Amino acid sequence: MKFRRSLLILIPLGVAVLTLAFVVKRNLEMRERLLCGIRMKSLGTAVKIYAEDNHVEPNEVVQILIDHGDWKAEDSLCPTSGQPILLAAISAARLADVSPRDVIAYEPLSYHDGKGANILYGDGHASFESPDAYREVIAYSKSAGSWGAAEDLTSNGS
Ligand SMILES: [Zn+2]
Repeated sequence: MKFRRSLLILIPLGVAVLTLAFVVKRNLEMRERLLCGIRMKSLGTAVKIYAEDNHVEPNEVVQILIDHGDWKAEDSLCPTSGQPILLAAISAARLADVSPRDVIAYEPLSYHDGKGANILYGDGHASFESPDAYREVIAYSKSAGSWGAAEDLTSNGS
């Protein structure tokens, strides 16, 4: 009887602990996705401004900013994977004339365990896209010919 009563207490307690662990893990994931998107947006904005003002190719800007102490290397990393946020291969001349749907920066799907990935668009907003939406953006970028790095994305992306 006493054993049965203990079970009646322990089972709900176990469920509550598991639920709490799940909620904490999910909140951590959401926070990291958000931080990743914020870093991506900041990085893309800094690169765009510096490349336009100094007539430097975007893919050279991050290292220049880090070398000058204007950017911390860790702020260029996805907080979940610890891997670098990638810039789309858009030239400085083209950067001033991007469309809202052009991709400025991205990360492979593998960075967030295949659950989705952040993309920074030409209109300056970063969004965590589902794997299907992510692949759609890649397909669009390939068809629009606006993104020279599309090949890299698909090879790392799935
Ligand atoms: Zn990330």
